[in-house]
Amino acid sequence: MNSDQIRQAYLDYFKKREHEVIESSPVVPQGDPTLLFTNAGMNQFKDLLLGNEVRDYKRAASVQKCIRAGGKHNDLDEVGKDGRHLTFFEMLGNWSFGDYYKKASIEWAWDFCLNVLELDPARLYVTVHNDDDESLAIWRDEIKVDPTHILKLGDKDNFWAMGPTGPCGPCTEIHIDLQPEKGPFEFLDGYDPDRIVEIWNLVFMESNRLEDESLEPLPMKSVDTGMGLDRVAMVKANTNNVFHTDLFKPLMAKAAELLGTPVIDWQEFFVSEKFTNFSVIADHIRTVTFALCDGAKFSNDGRGYVLRRILRRAVRYGRELGFEGPFLHQIAAVVVENYGHVYPELKTGGSRASEMIRLEEERFFRNIDRGIELFEQAAAESKDVISGARVFELHATYGFPPDLTEIMAEEKGLGIDKTEYEALWVQHQNASRGKDLYADAAGVGDWITVHEGPSSTFVGYTDLEAKTRVM
Ligand code: ATP
Ligand code: MG
Ligand code: MG
Ligand code: MG
Repeated sequence: MNSDQIRQAYLDYFKKREHEVIESSPVVPQGDPTLLFTNAGMNQFKDLLLGNEVRDYKRAASVQKCIRAGGKHNDLDEVGKDGRHLTFFEMLGNWSFGDYYKKASIEWAWDFCLNVLELDPARLYVTVHNDDDESLAIWRDEIKVDPTHILKLGDKDNFWAMGPTGPCGPCTEIHIDLQPEKGPFEFLDGYDPDRIVEIWNLVFMESNRLEDESLEPLPMKSVDTGMGLDRVAMVKANTNNVFHTDLFKPLMAKAAELLGTPVIDWQEFFVSEKFTNFSVIADHIRTVTFALCDGAKFSNDGRGYVLRRILRRAVRYGRELGFEGPFLHQIAAVVVENYGHVYPELKTGGSRASEMIRLEEERFFRNIDRGIELFEQAAAESKDVISGARVFELHATYGFPPDLTEIMAEEKGLGIDKTEYEALWVQHQNASRGKDLYADAAGVGDWITVHEGPSSTFVGYTDLEAKTRVM
C-alpha cells in the first residue's frame, strides 16, 4: 500500500461506518488565537467537542494537514534524528461527537490495523491510561490482545491535550515493533523507543482544561483519534524511517538531482553520510510550502517567524551539501506535484509560494557564508558554550536564528548561552524600536540591521505584494 492508498482506505473504512468525510482545514488556524499551527485533526472540531456547536453529523473522518513546530506540540528538534518525527505530517482521524465511545473506537481501530493495513498482531502493542480500566478490559478481554502487549501509563504519555487549555482526556495508543526479528519484546519493562513506534492515538474526550488549569467535565463524551499517515506509510514500506517512503523520495531525488548527483541506489542513499541533511530539507520544504499555500507569510514574529527559522535551517543544511544559491523553491515545486491531487490549494498557491521561498532563501544565502565563518571562529574560541554575544551577532548581523546556531553548536559538542543572548536581543529590540522603519515595513527587522549596503536592500516582498494585489 502506498500513501495514496492508505489515505483512501482509511476514509472508505469510516465512510462505510457512517462517518461524514470532512476536508482538512488549513494549517493556519482559522479563528483560534490559542494555536500557532493546526496540530491535530481535532482542532477544527474543537467547538463540537466542547459542546458549543452542533452539526448534522455525530461521526466524522478526515485526513488533516498538521504542523508541529511550536507551542505545546513541537517536534522541530527531532526532525532528521529519529526517523519518525516531522514538522509537517498528515493525520488520519475519526470522531464521535457524543455518539459511539470506547468499545467501538477500539474495535474499529484494531480491525483497521489487522484487516485493512494487514499488520501482524504479534508486532502490535497497546498503552492505556493508568485509571482507564474500561479500555484495559476491552483490549484484554474482548479484543483478546496478549496481556504482555498492554502497558499502563500515566498522564505524561496517555492523557492527551490540544494545548494548555481546551478539550482533553485519557487515551489509549497503538504502537508497532519495528524490529520483530529480534524476538519477543518485554513491553512491561517500559518501551524501547528504537524498536517501538506509536502509530495511532485514541483519545476519550471527557474534560475541558480551563485557564486556571482545572478540569471541567464536557457535556458529552466524545472520541478523537489520530493516526500518522507518514508513519503508517513507513510501516507499509517495511522500513524504520519515514523519510524512506514515497512521501519523501521525490523531494530527495530532486535535491540530489539539483546537486548533480542523482540517486541511483536508494538503499545506498539511505545510509549515506548526508542523509540527515536531505531528510531535514525534505521535511522543512514540505512544511513551508503547505503553510504558505494556506496563507502564511514569512515574518519576524509568531507563525511567520517559525517559518523563517525553518527555512533558514533548511538552507543551512543545503549549504552543507554544496548548494550555493536558492534551491528550495525548486523542491517546493515537487511538493506541489506530489500532493496537488490531494490538496488543490497547492496547485493554486504553489507558484506564489515557490516565489516567496526563492526570495527568502536568496536573502539568507547572501550572508550565510560569512555567518558560518563567524560561527566557526566563535566555536573555535569557545570551551563549552558559545557566548550570548556571538549568538546575538550571528542573529542580528547574519540572520542566523538562535535555534539554528544551537544546532550548529550541538554538532560540535557545544552549547549556547541563551540567557545572555535573550537579554541582548531584548535590548536590541527596545533600542531599535521606531528607528528601523524600513525593516519593519519589509518584515525583515531581524535581518538587515547591520548590513544595509546596496547589496542587501530588500525589495522582494514589496514587489511580490504588488504582484499579488493586481492578480
Ligand atoms: P509521539 O509520542 O511519537 O511524539 P504523539 O503522542 O505526540 O506522538 P499524538 O498527538 O498522539 O502524537 O498524534 C497522533 C498520531 O500522529 C501519532 O500516533 C503519530 O502516528 C502521529 N504523529 C504525531 N506527531 C508526529 C510527527 N511529528 N510526525 C509524524 N507523525 C506524527
Ligand atoms: Mg509527540
Ligand atoms: Mg506519544
Ligand atoms: Mg500520542
